[in-house]
Amino acid sequence: MSRRARFLEVLGIADEWVLRRAPALPEAVEPSAMAGLADPSAEVTAVHEDAASREAAQAAVTLAAVADARVNEAQAEAAPSAWSAQADMDAAAPAPAPAPAEVAVARMPPEPVAADTSTREAVIARLDWAALEQRVCGCTDCQLCDGRTQTVFGVGDRQAEWMLVGEAPGENEDKQGEPFVGQAGKLLDNMLAAVGLARGRNVFIANVLKCRPPGNRNPEPEEVAQCEPYLRRQIALIQPKLIVVLGRFAAQSLLRTTTPIGKLRGTVHSYEGIPVVVTYHPAYLLRTLSDKARAWEDLCLAREVHARAGAKA
Ligand code: SF4
Repeated sequence: MSRRARFLEVLGIADEWVLRRAPALPEAVEPSAMAGLADPSAEVTAVHEDAASREAAQAAVTLAAVADARVNEAQAEAAPSAWSAQADMDAAAPAPAPAPAEVAVARMPPEPVAADTSTREAVIARLDWAALEQRVCGCTDCQLCDGRTQTVFGVGDRQAEWMLVGEAPGENEDKQGEPFVGQAGKLLDNMLAAVGLARGRNVFIANVLKCRPPGNRNPEPEEVAQCEPYLRRQIALIQPKLIVVLGRFAAQSLLRTTTPIGKLRGTVHSYEGIPVVVTYHPAYLLRTLSDKARAWEDLCLAREVHARAGAKA
């Protein structure tokens, strides 16, 4: 047995092949592990070096394994943290990506009608006569614009102390653009004359609706709501001493009530501080002659109220 072989036997390495170029020896590995060997020669030194290299390699592998394990542990520890951080980010993140525009729009509350109406009313409430008449003439704010021939703005003295308010234009009014024409208009003129008034002299005549409802049907509440600001502005511009309301519909619309006209008659009501007297519509009186006497009573009441208001007429 060669000296080399003996050394290998002593070392328990036998003829096992050992990598001579092992990784750098870590500090933890003690080269002096071979210190107990006697008479070390160059070969022994070589073997020693081989053994040291082997151990160093093993140690390096061990250290590498430890390092890998620690890296793995670190990664294993880091992984939940990273997940938690992501979870936190998810939790803290703003709402999921914005919903498609159509969904967002669908969830949006509808534009408050009151706000729109208020804005529109505020605009109308600032109009002067010319602007108001022009706006009514071109108005398309409700469906009644579809069937009208023309709007019926109103007629008369714009500084009048008497104001007469009817329901809506009929067929003749729609054609002529003036309220209370035809047989009902003639009757109204006679009624006015009975109390010393005349169309166009100290009296202004208008309707709640400025467009004719098709087939002379009753106006819808939405149509009244859209058109009433025009009447309100007319009243504000005229500032009459008295308003005489002609017919059930006009009375209930202006006074915001459902009380029958029979119970509204004979009492002085108020519209924004202006006294209001209710009587029958001339068209009704043409069909119900027996109620003409009641209409006369109403006109007498109106004249009395007007007189009490200190009017000149
Ligand atoms: S009825 Fe009045 S609100 Fe409707 S379109 Fe005619 S003017 Fe405009």
